[in-house]
Amino acid sequence: LLDGQAVDDHQITVCVRKRPPSRKELNRREVDVISVPRKDLMIVHEPRTKVDLTKFLEHHKFRFDYAFNESCDNAMVYKYTAKPLVKTIFEGGMATCFAYGQTGSGKTHTMGGEFTGKIQDCKNGIYAMAAKDVFATLNTPRYRTMNLVVSASFFEIYSGKVFDLLADKQKLRVLEDGNQQVQVVGLTEKVVDSVEEVLKIIQLGNLARTSGQTSANANSSRSHAVFQIVLRPIGTTKIHGKFSFIDLAGNERGVDTSSADRQTRMEGAEINKSLLALKECIRALGKQSAHLPFRVSKLTQVLRDSFIGEKSKTCMIAMISPCINSCEHTLNTLRYADRVKEL
Ligand code: ADP
Ligand code: MG
Repeated sequence: LLDGQAVDDHQITVCVRKRPPSRKELNRREVDVISVPRKDLMIVHEPRTKVDLTKFLEHHKFRFDYAFNESCDNAMVYKYTAKPLVKTIFEGGMATCFAYGQTGSGKTHTMGGEFTGKIQDCKNGIYAMAAKDVFATLNTPRYRTMNLVVSASFFEIYSGKVFDLLADKQKLRVLEDGNQQVQVVGLTEKVVDSVEEVLKIIQLGNLARTSGQTSANANSSRSHAVFQIVLRPIGTTKIHGKFSFIDLAGNERGVDTSSADRQTRMEGAEINKSLLALKECIRALGKQSAHLPFRVSKLTQVLRDSFIGEKSKTCMIAMISPCINSCEHTLNTLRYADRVKEL
């Protein structure tokens, strides 16, 4: 139905995914305010009230590279977003895939697959589907002779600090050398030889991410999770290509900078700052802009090498909830994604 061709020559692909209503939303008989009339169009039908109290619907139209409706599964979303970028890292480029949206909109479902503690459940996420294609590509005649080693890492950025999800959430330092090369010091990078090994890593990282969550500490909706697959020529430390997958903090958290609690307020400000910097960095992808705000946030700082360079490619999947209750956040999400689009 959809054709993946157009994505190939884009440096930036921006897509939006509407998730199906949840059981809870169905039980509450919440109104679905989103329609997807075309494969590249998403419309929000916002209920509004005039000054004379008459009610009307305001229709907000947004065009994207792809608009996925609630019947699209992860495999479909993957096919038109991250999949075309697997080739990029074999050709010596950097690829990134972002999941953006409010908490509960489906970011983790899309990226990590359903996390229930069973390893099988990671298989349906974009991390795992991409890993599968990385190994398939590695074994083609064209790339086999390059002797590339695949490794994976998984970390979390919470309140401007980096934590290793593969090493008991150990706090890591980020260093920048004279050549503006950024390094996450001591980050666990596991060499992997098969999809099964990658699944174990995803599982381990997901578990670390979700364990010990209370309202008082790092909740996954307030952190950015970064899963990376790195290719290196055998026997070297030089990076041939890198694919970064980012399950971003809930964008509603950035709005919440008015909280009474100082900690929450600071977290909100930090999230806000990182999402704004991210937007600017994506928009300038591959362009030689001297004043990009990489250093403004840890997120953009650690992803610096993925934004520069002509071979860098990125895709953003903006996730939205279907219901009326989420209308305001949905509009915020779509406006943000709209700004990220290649001009
Ligand atoms: P987020 O990571 O954005 O906070 P989640 O991925 O945790 O959101 O999704 C919230 C809930 O909605 C989860 O229970 C998830 O299983 C469900 N969900 C999200 N997207 C879909 C989808 N496309 N199809 C079915 N269920 C989904
Ligand atoms: Mg999540």
